[in-house]
Amino acid sequence: MSMPAQMIDGKALAAKVREEVAAEVAELGDVGLTTVLVGDDPASHVYINGKHKAATSVGIHANDLRLPADTPEDELLGLLAGLNADDAVDGILVQLPLPSHLDETKAIEALDPGKDVDGFHPVNAGRLYLGRPNLVPGTPLGIMRMLDEYGIEPRGAHAVVVGRSSIVGKPIAHLLLQAHATVTICHSRTVDLGRHTRDADILVAAVGRLHVIGADMVKPGSTVIDVGMNRTEDGLFGDVDPAAAEHAAYMTPVPGGVGPMTIAMVLKNTLAAARARRGFVSARD
Ligand code: NAP
Repeated sequence: MSMPAQMIDGKALAAKVREEVAAEVAELGDVGLTTVLVGDDPASHVYINGKHKAATSVGIHANDLRLPADTPEDELLGLLAGLNADDAVDGILVQLPLPSHLDETKAIEALDPGKDVDGFHPVNAGRLYLGRPNLVPGTPLGIMRMLDEYGIEPRGAHAVVVGRSSIVGKPIAHLLLQAHATVTICHSRTVDLGRHTRDADILVAAVGRLHVIGADMVKPGSTVIDVGMNRTEDGLFGDVDPAAAEHAAYMTPVPGGVGPMTIAMVLKNTLAAARARRGFVSARD
């Protein structure tokens, strides 16, 4: 009989990452993060409040800019240019989604790539693609930290990523490739998804569809990373049927898995950006 999977404790690991960041922030001195929220999307307010609480808890000075929903584009771009030029600002986060009259691509491209602690700027995406990552999005970075912490070796493993978004699917595929996994990327047009997932030593599900990965689609003894956040009347659920834990070796729970790691890694990025701006060779040194 196989043993049930060991659950990967993202909450505990995120607390450990925050402790690491706090110690380094204390050593480095003033580190500043500015968040920009346009409009009044309730979910965005919750996310921004969470980021501020986390930043403050590690000693990062968090500056909370909130603009009205009808802010004109030139005003937003002007504000971002000001933050780029402000020496007290190490990291800038533009909370997405922006109201529909604002172009998200333009806003992200207006950021100084060295202050783009979400890692969404084309320069940061391009560096990751080239295998010379600098600031990498928090969710994929958090996944790599989880694998490392639990001694799960990507080298030589078959990693299957379901989802190809720019914030999760593509960057995690690149990080796994860089860590010498053999990577398959699946998406909505993939024919016979289970054929691919059943061969995965490391399976990353980043789809946003409740239990799209059935328990019978998971390889025995594999590692399952569930990025999905599907809100239902009964609570928050992932993309993977929790029954997969019966035969996986490691699995992330939802909630308490990938979610808490994301903000912690954005704090780590803010620290890395601050170090780079103070003359350390690269954000990763
Ligand atoms: P997204 O931009 O909507 O991308 C979803 C991806 O899933 C797309 O590439 C899509 O394929 C693919 N897909 C859709 N239906 C599919 C199916 N039936 N079979 C296979 N692939 C399918 O979403 P995202 O931003 O990457 O987020 C994915 C999930 O992760 C969401 O639930 C989100 O809430 C969650 N998330 C969690 C965190 C966290 O911190 N825990 C962070 C970010 C996101 P196409 O490209 O062909 O459309």
